[in-house]
Amino acid sequence: MAFLDDKLCTKINGHSLGADAQSGEPLRGDLQEFLGGEILLHQLDDLTKVNPVTLETVLRCLQARYSTDIFYTNAGCTLVALNPFKPVPQLYSPELMKEYHTAPQPQNLKPHIFAVGEQTYRNVKSLIEPVNQSIIVSGESGAGKTWTSRCLMRFYAVVASSPTSWENHNVAERIEQRILNSNPVMEAFGNACTLRNNNSSRFGKFIQLQLNRTQQMTGAAVQTYLLEKTRVACQAPQERNFHIFYQIYKGASADERLQWYLPDGAAFSWLPNPERTLEEDDFEATKEAMLHLGIDTPTQNNIFKVLAGLLHLGNTHFADSEDEALPCQLMDPAEYSVRTYASLLRLPEDALLETLRIRTIWAGRQQQVIRKPCSRAECATRRDCLAKLIYSRLFDWLVAVINSSICADSGTWATFIGLLDVYGFESFPDNSLEQLCINYANEKLQQHFVAHYLRAQQEEYAAEGLEWSFVNYQDNQSCLDLIEGSPISICSLINEECRLNRPSSAAQLQTRIEGALAGSPCLGQNKLSREPSFLVVHYAGPVCYHTAGLVEKNKDPVPPELTTLLQQSQDPLLKVLFPVTPQEKSQEEPSSQSRAPMLTVVSKFKASLEQLLQVLHRTTPHYIRCIKPNSQSQAHTFVRKEVLSQLEACGLVETIHISAAGFPIRVSHRNFVERYQLLRRLRFQVSPGTHSLAPAKGHSEVPPDANEATLQPLLQDILHTLPTLTQAATTGE
Ligand code: ADP
Ligand code: MG
Repeated sequence: MAFLDDKLCTKINGHSLGADAQSGEPLRGDLQEFLGGEILLHQLDDLTKVNPVTLETVLRCLQARYSTDIFYTNAGCTLVALNPFKPVPQLYSPELMKEYHTAPQPQNLKPHIFAVGEQTYRNVKSLIEPVNQSIIVSGESGAGKTWTSRCLMRFYAVVASSPTSWENHNVAERIEQRILNSNPVMEAFGNACTLRNNNSSRFGKFIQLQLNRTQQMTGAAVQTYLLEKTRVACQAPQERNFHIFYQIYKGASADERLQWYLPDGAAFSWLPNPERTLEEDDFEATKEAMLHLGIDTPTQNNIFKVLAGLLHLGNTHFADSEDEALPCQLMDPAEYSVRTYASLLRLPEDALLETLRIRTIWAGRQQQVIRKPCSRAECATRRDCLAKLIYSRLFDWLVAVINSSICADSGTWATFIGLLDVYGFESFPDNSLEQLCINYANEKLQQHFVAHYLRAQQEEYAAEGLEWSFVNYQDNQSCLDLIEGSPISICSLINEECRLNRPSSAAQLQTRIEGALAGSPCLGQNKLSREPSFLVVHYAGPVCYHTAGLVEKNKDPVPPELTTLLQQSQDPLLKVLFPVTPQEKSQEEPSSQSRAPMLTVVSKFKASLEQLLQVLHRTTPHYIRCIKPNSQSQAHTFVRKEVLSQLEACGLVETIHISAAGFPIRVSHRNFVERYQLLRRLRFQVSPGTHSLAPAKGHSEVPPDANEATLQPLLQDILHTLPTLTQAATTGE
């Protein structure tokens, strides 16, 4: 027996994988399949084979693999993906895709996202359980979720295309190519350079790849979540606005610069750090992808013109008025900007200026109109609100256009593979409503994971009377009760504050939350925070949320005058984004004066999350956990502490414990009997050389329904699937 040294790649003998650094206890691998050999720690393809399974041993194994450029490792039902932070083209080549696609058992090849992709694809077409599938890709910002989803889409664009396209899958008009083209477009408009990731997705995405009965991709449908629209008007230091603004700014031709009033060297408040060059700044690539999605050049120009208008809008700054009864002054040289963006957005300049600086209030039963000049801060808020409103509607419209271009007609698809790429768990020094929503989504997904895999498996084993030692998994129901439960939860309290529309301080909200939810085991107290706040103990760790501004953010108020103003635009695109409803046409005053119930950010998010989970519940889920080996985005750098906290955050060790003792394939008894009943009536033997089924010696009678077509799939199972079915658990129907 040899112990591991710190380099982690030392050869070890027999059943020993080295020693725990602290205790000196030997680490044993479950090495039955490696018998007779010496193995290297990095050769362990599945973390279930590490024994004992602890955070430390799992960490070591991942580190050993990372240091030998092995980035994927199975962890039972989950694939762990370490971000290489360097190009590894051979890892995603068409040849490798083909290898996984044509392998008799892809899960027996090296762990890879293509193995997950292929297994998922086979599950769809399996006669045993034809069912929709989903791949849930999770991880923190910069861990590689979007990269992974993109690679999987490329994989399906190849393996699930019609057979002839193996040779010509580059043809842009093909549906697969159109689906792929949705990526650069959505990333240009929805991604930005942040401190943690140069190409950070500022929205969540669920894409359903639609397959017909012969498992060919006929279309796709995209759903997006929570675009971080505040970024349009407000970027944190050292971060940037959405890529598209830089693409326009840097990539516009001389002619376009003239049209969009973008002289060389012009400075824009909402375009920080333009000097940074990123590969994501490729305007031509975005334009081309848009074209392939059916967004023609005039429409594109219209979009870019509106976005240039927003850049100019951001240059409008206000000064306090000397007389309170008068509107705020515009700071020089903003007057020029106003004229510019009024013309780019095709809005009447006077109305635009009035909307930005004067609030209209409808008072009393008679709805008497009162106009009141806004303070300097209010003017700035209205300016930002205008930009956010236009940008978010534009983004939603783009998603709708993309969907209309790539979505298959109903009736032309039978099943789907869903790819979920959502922001991972977040915890910053200052957390607000955005983090609350994101972490709430992660709690829901974690619960889905627990419900679907851990709990289902444990309960199933118990019901079947299988010998099984229960692992204490972390159930996060009490945290979800705290966030979204009924009748009282954090969400309901914040929503109530919005509904009551009363002035309440950040400290009052804290007191209300702490008072009403004191009984929750997941509500902690952050004694260190000086700001009014509350602390939620999430499954991934405690997070302190500041209450200042929370209620206002949840209201996400849009002054009705802004919408009315935009409805006056003569711009064809803005006309589409801000249509005037017949009801509004007949009204003199803005529609928001009607008593529609307030839809808060939290309630909208909760509804879309529930919808997503309903879809996910009807699929067989597969999981990929992306891990960021270091926060500097450096290749060849594995920071143990950072990886450890991510392993803890996703509960990987528990998952491995359960997967290690689990059964790899579960088929219901009825389906099993239905599929294999023929074999009961058929005495057969498999000829090893020819791989064919033949009646066994002395059994010449072949049942009439045993023919090539019925026997071939069974033969495939016997050769490829059944060997792993030796442990099959039935559901005991
Ligand atoms: P996330 O979506 O989780 O925030 P991304 O998928 O955008 O993270 O990945 C961040 C960056 O990491 C990418 O822009 C890319 O440079 C790098 N990266 C991620 N996965 C890989 C990979 N498999 N191979 C090479 N580089 C990768
Ligand atoms: Mg991303």
